[in-house]
Amino acid sequence: MKGKITINKELCKGCKYCIAACPRGVIVVEKKFNKMGYFPAAPKHMDKCTGCAFCARMCPELAIEVWITDNNKSAAKNKKT
Ligand code: SF4
Ligand code: SF4
Repeated sequence: MKGKITINKELCKGCKYCIAACPRGVIVVEKKFNKMGYFPAAPKHMDKCTGCAFCARMCPELAIEVWITDNNKSAAKNKKT
């Protein structure tokens, strides 16, 4: 299963919980800070993402959306519920 995530960097407070939670090493820290002065997380190795949504479930700021791709169809899977 292939996955895809987006991170709203302006919501991100740079806690890195998502980086710790990701079993595939998809997410990294950006080198430029956001408007709140935090270094935000960013998806980098998207080819490794499985869409497991561990990252989104850990994010206290609801900054991450996860998509899964199956049979060429995309569907929103998780935004922390
Ligand atoms: S959905 Fe899973 S594999 Fe993809 S970035 Fe999040 S934790 Fe990592
Ligand atoms: S868990 Fe959320 S707030 Fe924390 S670094 Fe990741 S995206 Fe940013």
